[in-house]
Amino acid sequence: MTDALTRPAEATRIPAIPSRAAGTSGFEGTDAPGIVFELEDVAVHYGSTPAVEGVTMDIPARRITALIGPSGCGKSTLIRCLNRMNDLVDGARVSGRLTYRGIDLHDPRVDPVEVRRRIGMVFQKPNPFPKSVYDNIAFGPRVNGTRRNLDDIVEKALTDAALWDEVKDKLHASAFALSGGQQQRLCIARCLAVDPEVILMDEPCSALDPIATSRIEDLMADLRDRYTIVIVTHNMQQAARVSDYTAFITTDVVDGGSRVGHLVEFDRTEKLFTNPSDPRTEGYITGRFG
Ligand code: ADP
Repeated sequence: MTDALTRPAEATRIPAIPSRAAGTSGFEGTDAPGIVFELEDVAVHYGSTPAVEGVTMDIPARRITALIGPSGCGKSTLIRCLNRMNDLVDGARVSGRLTYRGIDLHDPRVDPVEVRRRIGMVFQKPNPFPKSVYDNIAFGPRVNGTRRNLDDIVEKALTDAALWDEVKDKLHASAFALSGGQQQRLCIARCLAVDPEVILMDEPCSALDPIATSRIEDLMADLRDRYTIVIVTHNMQQAARVSDYTAFITTDVVDGGSRVGHLVEFDRTEKLFTNPSDPRTEGYITGRFG
């Protein structure tokens, strides 16, 4: 398997060493193992309308980073930048600088398919393929050319997604026969099966009941030492429970009266929720608006 994000003919190695030393990254005093994404003045427009702009932040490796803020502030738009999912959204245009492991994600040599293998995504509504449990998990490895040890890969991914015990006797049943929470863990297992570094989760629990939600939260805690996780959630309690870092985004009214999302504050979750630096963050977390 290639270690490069770029198309093979123009391969660039992804540096193993983090692109910035922890001491200069805003993560002082933590043992965060490097930075995975660097965003500098990132903006997304739909057509000529800006949805979110001026976002500058570093996302640390093997930690959980939550994006919170009122509906419509641009959380989903922003998370979709991280694996170039906005390429697939009509009219969306991303500007600014956005690097993954020091590589400009919009460099024309970067292969978006490889980006999405390295940086998997789980959506609000579980979206298993209309296939068996087994074939859902084996799909990605097969596309990548893996023919051997598929059984082991499937078992490992399902085990890592805390689903194996529940499905080991129905691997060849339709994925649609699973409950909503199981389907969401199946989607997480499908990501894990292609050995990503990052898992993006866009409101992964909003279609689930509280028990299924808590199983996903437990699973995130299990995965956090091995993967970089970025989660969009409208649920502040969830962000406070699961994440290490939180970014608060809100909408400001700009010239002409349109509303645009801006990053207000990005900090350790504990600090942001107990001692926020910006009064707008405090207003949001104390329920004064949003
Ligand atoms: P959030 O995830 O915080 O609720 P979104 O990222 O979904 O916010 O939306 C941010 C803004 O971008 C909103 O004004 C929304 O209407 C707009 N928007 C989102 N997706 C699209 C799209 N595909 N086309 C046009 N506008 C969009």
